[in-house]
Amino acid sequence: MALKTIPTAPDPRLKKKSKPVASVDAEVRPLMDDMLETMYAAPGIGLAAPQVGVLKRVIVLDIDREDVKTGPLFLANPEIIEASDEDVTYEEGCLSVPEHYSDVVRPARVKVRYLDRDGKKQEMACEGLLATCVQHEIDHLDGILFIDHISALKRNMILRKLLKARKEKERDEAEGKAPAAKAKDHAPAL
Ligand SMILES: [Zn+2]
Repeated sequence: MALKTIPTAPDPRLKKKSKPVASVDAEVRPLMDDMLETMYAAPGIGLAAPQVGVLKRVIVLDIDREDVKTGPLFLANPEIIEASDEDVTYEEGCLSVPEHYSDVVRPARVKVRYLDRDGKKQEMACEGLLATCVQHEIDHLDGILFIDHISALKRNMILRKLLKARKEKERDEAEGKAPAAKAKDHAPAL
């Protein structure tokens, strides 16, 4: 297994549509394992293949909260086949939009169809944080970030700050300075 680098917005790879996998084969399984390891190390609770620079319809999740404990989940070609009329608002963060959080409104419950790590067809009913997370990750496969769900004004402000932070990081690295500590007390990133 290998840790991958997570591209951050506005990286053009994050805006592309990913392609379905033909099957969960000897090429896809190591990708799933690398993604899970990268997600744990970040740390995050969900990761989509474009977030390791691979444009394939693969996502991994592991939610461990008081109310939901999923264990590691591997989803290839995930598809939302049902969504509730009722919506829910959750303050989302994203490993590709580091240090920024915003309220996003999405259906409260969804049913997702996918291929698991053994290539078996599965369906899963999701609610709460799991429903939010599954929708956030499937969005990644269509080149959509959570900041695409908020106002253009707020989105552009976040993108400007991300570019500025990236430049500062590059400058600090060039000058051999230690990276600044990250803010911690926030919801886990997706
Ligand atoms: Zn994300």
